[in-house]
Amino acid sequence: MSFRVGLGYDVHRLVVGRRLFLGGVEIPHPLGLEGHSDADVLLHALGDALLGAASLGDLGQHFPPGDPRWKGVRSTELLEHILELVGKAGFRVVNADLTLLAEEPRLGPYRDAIREKVAALLGLPPSSVGLKATTQEGLGFLGRREGIAALAVVLLSDGG
Ligand code: MG
Repeated sequence: MSFRVGLGYDVHRLVVGRRLFLGGVEIPHPLGLEGHSDADVLLHALGDALLGAASLGDLGQHFPPGDPRWKGVRSTELLEHILELVGKAGFRVVNADLTLLAEEPRLGPYRDAIREKVAALLGLPPSSVGLKATTQEGLGFLGRREGIAALAVVLLSDGG
């Protein structure tokens, strides 16, 4: 059996008039993330990590920002498409570890719901999905609450 590790990073701008989705879960918040899809920064980082681990390119290649096919689409659908590609390439997901970089909202009340949602999407038990959050101590654009960023690491196995 062999293993493949993948890293993903994403950032989106916080704006008024958009709903906020993190890890496929809608979070009540006065601001949402701007983007072509629902701008779910956590799932985008996860998608890039999956594509990276399987050497299948990146999110921008598979879902070009100007492509009307993906306009307004939920990122859960993008992730399902990516998982299909990863599966066809002969890999299965072993575990995922996610970090949200945000001053707000606080993740605490939604942590379990997000972990369960991401685990369900990946076909894993929640115990195989890590989710952490950190603020930026007020530093930089994330510290000024101009956006939210996310990091993801995944491990794939070829099952052999
Ligand atoms: Mg994105």
